[in-house]
Amino acid sequence: VFDMLVVGGGPAGASAAIYSARKGLNTGVVADKFGGQVAETVAIENFISVKATEGPKLVANLESHVREYDVDVMDNQLGVKLTPSQGPNPYHELLLENGATLKSQTLLLATGARWREMNVPGEQEYRGKGVAYCPHCDGPLFKGKRVAVIGGGNSGIEAAIDLANIVEHVTVLEFDIQLRADDVLQRKAASMNNITIITQAMTTQVLGDGSRVNGLNYTDRATGEQHSVELAGIFVQIGLVPNTEWLKGVVDLTPRGEIIVDERGQTSVPGIFAAGDVTNTPYKQIIIAMGSGATASLGAFDYLIRHSVP
Ligand code: FAD
Repeated sequence: VFDMLVVGGGPAGASAAIYSARKGLNTGVVADKFGGQVAETVAIENFISVKATEGPKLVANLESHVREYDVDVMDNQLGVKLTPSQGPNPYHELLLENGATLKSQTLLLATGARWREMNVPGEQEYRGKGVAYCPHCDGPLFKGKRVAVIGGGNSGIEAAIDLANIVEHVTVLEFDIQLRADDVLQRKAASMNNITIITQAMTTQVLGDGSRVNGLNYTDRATGEQHSVELAGIFVQIGLVPNTEWLKGVVDLTPRGEIIVDERGQTSVPGIFAAGDVTNTPYKQIIIAMGSGATASLGAFDYLIRHSVP
């Protein structure tokens, strides 16, 4: 039985666990894979005060910082069902895939999100070697180079506008017959002379020289013709999917499946908090996830001092 059970071991979960342990709460962390998205990241240059680091290094630091405290870390454990406290029972219950049930007075959901992938040949091979998902993170690595953005929704066109200020040229490839981004973004993109927009384009392959991306192939869906584009980077912007499939009907979600939180990180269920990329926060970054983990943890502490059972 915990005072605070954190579900997720990325930057948000790690930060929440440390804040909770420092308040003297009996804290547990359940993580499918400790480190989260950071474990898959190559270069990190925007974690303020650390000029440059790598994902695995930051994960090791996160873990050693959490282990400085008396936190029960349960790695390689997947939460599959959450039952909020009801009536006189003060405990929320988390069912794990292995069949065990954990009980806690407060729960903090920090299960993160995953980028939707193109699922084309070369994407996995060149992930982090030219295939990127986060323009805020990796844009500057392509300074002066040619890149593509896959996806013409708001995030794709925002990425194209952002990147066009840094890179030499941006080609936007949209699958549909037209862009889905807001008009104001479309107008802005159209006004920039180093953005080319191609609609009805189905990306079919990421090309590379064995070590880095050097182009991509796409099919023009109108004519069926194959085309190649030479470039150094591909930003895939076809959606960020929150890991909340198992939470539908338990806490309120946005239509996109993000957990709705208030300014203290509390969800629609009293005593259940959430932080990081899994929530409806508009920007998804390591430093933001850590900050929101701290906020939600302090929110949970405030909740406990008012509602906890001895
Ligand atoms: P995550 O990191 O997604 O962690 C989620 C955690 O929850 C994981 O431990 C996962 O295993 C666990 N989990 C999920 N579901 C369950 C479940 N049901 N039960 C138990 N555990 C579960 N941001 C930057 O600021 N700078 C960068 O340079 C940068 N580069 C990036 C590069 C790549 C390739 C990617 C993918 C992301 C990058 N980001 C970067 C974004 C950054 O990684 C995320 O914003 C951040 O990791 C979000 O933290 P989080 O803790 O909310 O979620």
